[in-house]
Amino acid sequence: MGKTTMNTLPLFFKLESRPVLVIGGGEVALRKADLLDKAGAIITFVSPEYAPRLTAQFCQTRHTLIHDSYHQTYLDKQTLVIACTDDEAVNAQIFHDCEARFIPVNVVDNPPLCTFIFPAIVDRDPITIAVSSAGKAPVLARLLRAKIETMIAPEYGKLAGLAGKFRDTVKTALPNVTARRKFWEQAFEGQVAETVFQNQPNSLSKAESQLLELLKHHEQTQPTDKSQLGKVAIVGAGAGDPDLLSFKALRLMQQADIVFYDNLVSPPILELCRRDATKIYVGKKACNHAVAQHQINALLVEHAKLGKRVLRLKGGDPYVFGRGGEEAETLAQAGIDFEVVPGITAATAAASCAGIPLTHRDYAQSVKFVTACLKTDTMNDNFEGLLDDSQTVVFYMGLKQLERLTDGLVQAGKSPQTPIAIIANASLPNQQVLTGTIEDIVAKQAHAQLPAPAILIMGNVVKLHQTLGQHP
Ligand code: SAH
Repeated sequence: MGKTTMNTLPLFFKLESRPVLVIGGGEVALRKADLLDKAGAIITFVSPEYAPRLTAQFCQTRHTLIHDSYHQTYLDKQTLVIACTDDEAVNAQIFHDCEARFIPVNVVDNPPLCTFIFPAIVDRDPITIAVSSAGKAPVLARLLRAKIETMIAPEYGKLAGLAGKFRDTVKTALPNVTARRKFWEQAFEGQVAETVFQNQPNSLSKAESQLLELLKHHEQTQPTDKSQLGKVAIVGAGAGDPDLLSFKALRLMQQADIVFYDNLVSPPILELCRRDATKIYVGKKACNHAVAQHQINALLVEHAKLGKRVLRLKGGDPYVFGRGGEEAETLAQAGIDFEVVPGITAATAAASCAGIPLTHRDYAQSVKFVTACLKTDTMNDNFEGLLDDSQTVVFYMGLKQLERLTDGLVQAGKSPQTPIAIIANASLPNQQVLTGTIEDIVAKQAHAQLPAPAILIMGNVVKLHQTLGQHP
């Protein structure tokens, strides 16, 4: 069995005209009954006595109030059961009786005796947003709900209602899925939505005509081959900490139909991608490629041609040792629309997170990003360009080559006392930093065994780690 990573699965239950049993007659029963009533359920209440407010609200309606103690025969033909008696033993009995009959049951405020829970709800009918803490922190769930309430204007419900009304019309007018998606995106992000949000007395009818106008326009501009093509976003996911993503990266991650990601993309970042997007690992480690680059390029083109919104999610920045350039070239040649979103590259992430400024007026006037690993899978041994002591040098993909790199530098004339740092897992909770000189770092690393991915920063700025490294 796979690991459970979700405590409960949010589902939206259709209760209209379905029988629901509420056992209890107090204020709690009243609160739950209010919700069930809104959802159209037909409630049977069972309780020896009822709060006057409950009686006033629910007697002589489609619901039934039975004056009796709980008995298991009341469970017959019920879709859901809610127990809120003030007797713990009765509540527990109800839970067990329901479990035996596979009826979903909720004993109010008693998470262990619930097979489903009531989330905190943001109601923008027909849009419903449910927030749950799986019974662990209901107050926090409610606070979050309040936050969401302020973010989602009530007019969103109206907008969704409008879309529902025209769903079939649009489907007939635009049989092509991509064309339809583009239409709705334009409606929800453009004038139609604006008009609904203005919330004037005639807003809805005005928005309806705008929607039909937009539809006519989309029908007339019959999709050419080009407009049926999807789009590729080559997105930098940063060094690993999800907090370092850009808003734009996050937005595109949440829109993607399919995601191709590297091994440098951390699991919490991948979690932020659209839940029902297909996620495909095309990882490659340093010089060792799991999926050849030309295959990745071909996959991007192929899926864009199917009309998908393709996300190429890469560690760090796509255009810094990320082969984003090669992917973009292929897309440009294939005539596919693409955009590139920068990410925080390992060098700057490591620098900030380890307390090693890349430049500093006292120590370094320039900085160089160098790969230790060439396309031919050989080492980059162009050491002559790295001898300037007023320049910081950052090596990507250098950990495996550490010994040859430091030896080569010393042989080329670099001072053996030149400070160097290894930063592994920069920006992540398991970040590690090791400092030394190019003379002793190999021995230190043999002992410390910092893992990949790791980046090397060489130069006098490394001295600042001692004072700045303690302030994460
Ligand atoms: N495009 C990426 C670099 C890809 S090359 C970027 O802009 O960061 C892969 C190399 O990046 C690794 O070998 C390592 O040197 C470095 N790297 C990537 N993520 C890292 C991290 N979280 N910590 C340290 N080094 C990292």
